[in-house]
Amino acid sequence: MEDCSSVILSGELAVLPTETVYGLCALACDPLAISKIFKLKGRPSSNPLIAHILNLSWLNAISEPSPVAFKLGEFFWPGPLTIVLPKKNLIPLNLSAGLPTVAIRSPAHHAFRKVLELVNQPIAAPSANLSNRVSPTTMEHVIQNFGKHCPPIYDGGPCEHGLESTVLDLSERHPCILRPGPISLPEIENALGMKILDQPIKHSLDKISQKSPGNSKIHYAPQTPVRLFKSLTHMIDQQETMINQVVLLPSLEKSNEFTVHGITTLLLSKDGNPRSIAKNLYHVLQKADQLGKEKMNICLLSGTEALIPAINDRLVRASNK
Ligand code: AMP
Ligand code: MG
Repeated sequence: MEDCSSVILSGELAVLPTETVYGLCALACDPLAISKIFKLKGRPSSNPLIAHILNLSWLNAISEPSPVAFKLGEFFWPGPLTIVLPKKNLIPLNLSAGLPTVAIRSPAHHAFRKVLELVNQPIAAPSANLSNRVSPTTMEHVIQNFGKHCPPIYDGGPCEHGLESTVLDLSERHPCILRPGPISLPEIENALGMKILDQPIKHSLDKISQKSPGNSKIHYAPQTPVRLFKSLTHMIDQQETMINQVVLLPSLEKSNEFTVHGITTLLLSKDGNPRSIAKNLYHVLQKADQLGKEKMNICLLSGTEALIPAINDRLVRASNK
């Protein structure tokens, strides 16, 4: 961790684990260091980065004071909730992609927190993958992405949540979810004691992309084309069309119903628990991709558990090419 913090302090990049996915880190207030993130990831300059802070006392240095943000920070930080607020000048315009706002969160992973403490200033950290690829949840995924250009990494093992943070916009009159994630809409509503929007008012998905440019429809996609079914039953019914293809199953339960010969099945979890599915999702997508099959088949999850909208969001994005 000491090594990574000196690398970051010198204006270079390092990779650190967070509780969501691995992050490609640089000093948030150094425009030159930020430009290195965009270059290595091949990230469009229109897609802003998240600034990571150690605790709430750092918030007002980079964003306009907001009582709602403070309440949410007290409730959910450190943790996988990112809030978008009007930015202060300390945040360079290339980090915010020219927007007058900045996305901020305080990560929970002990290694990331230690580095924040050592560096003693905000750290920008988008997912440590090439732009539009599946986010990395292990050190090995990061190395597969960047190969010989890979910056120094701290190996924290597999990430706890395995899905990117929830992004909540507080810069408009109505708080609104820009990206569903591990912290759900009902949890945020309970904490605030008020209703929030699950997407910007009267806006189509294209408008969400403008509001939160990283949320374009093709984000998080594997290279193998993905066919998405609306339920497991539909996927089982269509299995004759999947010979020589790979199928990703939410649990062991129905795996013996795939009786057609020549289908490769991979499990997203043994027991169908959404927490396990979220944690394994990107790892299994990468594994399925490496099989080099002509197609991968997956299905939307059903159920009322808080994580399901976030998982289904990523499955839909994985299937948009
Ligand atoms: P990543 O860190 O790669 O998982 O992506 C960060 C996400 O936060 C992307 O979806 C961005 O579009 C979104 N984001 C970052 N900054 C802002 C901002 N100022 N306003 C709206 N969305 C943002
Ligand atoms: Mg990303």
